[in-house]
Amino acid sequence: MLHIPEKGIKMKILLKRLFVALVISVYLFSSTSCNQPQRYEAEFEVMGTYLAVTIDGETQSDAAAASRAVNDEMQRINSLMSTWQADTPLSILNRMASEGWTEADGEIISVLQEAMQYSRLTDGGFDVTAGPLIRLWGFLKRSEQRPPTDEEIQDAMAKIGWQNVEIDNERSMIRFTVPGMEVDFGAIAKGYAVDRALGILRESDIETALVSLGGNVGVIGLPAGRESWGVAVRDPRHADALLGTLSLDTNFDGWGVASSGQYERFFEYEGRRYGHIIDPRTGYPVEGVLGTTVVAASAMQADALSTCLFVVGEERGISLLTDEPGAFGMIMLSDGEGSMRIRISKELVEYFTLFEGVEGVKVEEF
Ligand code: AMP
Ligand code: MG
Repeated sequence: MLHIPEKGIKMKILLKRLFVALVISVYLFSSTSCNQPQRYEAEFEVMGTYLAVTIDGETQSDAAAASRAVNDEMQRINSLMSTWQADTPLSILNRMASEGWTEADGEIISVLQEAMQYSRLTDGGFDVTAGPLIRLWGFLKRSEQRPPTDEEIQDAMAKIGWQNVEIDNERSMIRFTVPGMEVDFGAIAKGYAVDRALGILRESDIETALVSLGGNVGVIGLPAGRESWGVAVRDPRHADALLGTLSLDTNFDGWGVASSGQYERFFEYEGRRYGHIIDPRTGYPVEGVLGTTVVAASAMQADALSTCLFVVGEERGISLLTDEPGAFGMIMLSDGEGSMRIRISKELVEYFTLFEGVEGVKVEEF
């Protein structure tokens, strides 16, 4: 997850930036009315992606101070939980916890416990210990990318399994019962960071804001003069195309939106595409689902669940969402050449609008 950009991915970062810009333009567009209080917008680079903060109805200096505080908080989380830097407490824990009980930061333990909840719910489809497999597939790290060999995959699979993480809450300690295990918060940390950001904004008495961290969005209040925030949803069939908008009204105050898809990071080898979400049970990148989007009462829940849905697919994904309180979503599935079928929570239907001109999409609620 959280990484330092390398030369080879500059292009993708640029495209991501374009996407952030598109998302911003969607909610800007949705809020241009006369006499609106001044809008403040800031963009930062953190966790290998872009953080965009939009604040309405505050003085520019208050809004600037609040968005700097948001950026500081996210930089702090990155320095705590990045597995792309060797010296973070999480990286150090990853190196030591196979040797025996290791003291762990309370915040790391709480995110880990939250993540393990989702591992339980998906029977290991979502696995916060998939680190060695993720590293093996080596997205963004390898200059000459090729799929790993079966032997390499078997070796990595022997080092994973969320049940092999033991947590001693009283002593704030963790150990891995299998050598070589690693924890990776790539599927959950951005959502966590967005929740923290919303907390910081509220502490600064900000009543209207949107935070977007690499497509993980959180909202507070309503944009000036409007009844909802418009959050763009990507069309997973085409690079950097948009599918539609989720209009988040006051029912979603403090909520988060997250999307997952292999379009985010992948490499191609001999005509096949290999994405960055791995099924820990097979050791291979997940295939079958095109994309998922989840709207949930917390951004961390949305982040975790969008990855969960991506791994478990249509049927299990639907029951997972139906059982989860405060979470709704969309699962996008291929429906023949270029066409797509979207399964969407019935509660979300009225908030989602397809963009005009988007073709080959069938929407079915559940
Ligand atoms: P997201 O974009 O939130 O869906 O998260 C994708 C990231 O989560 C990947 O880049 C990996 O770092 C990590 N990851 C990949 N596969 C899994 C998995 N099965 N369970 C948990 N995390 C995963
Ligand atoms: Mg996720």
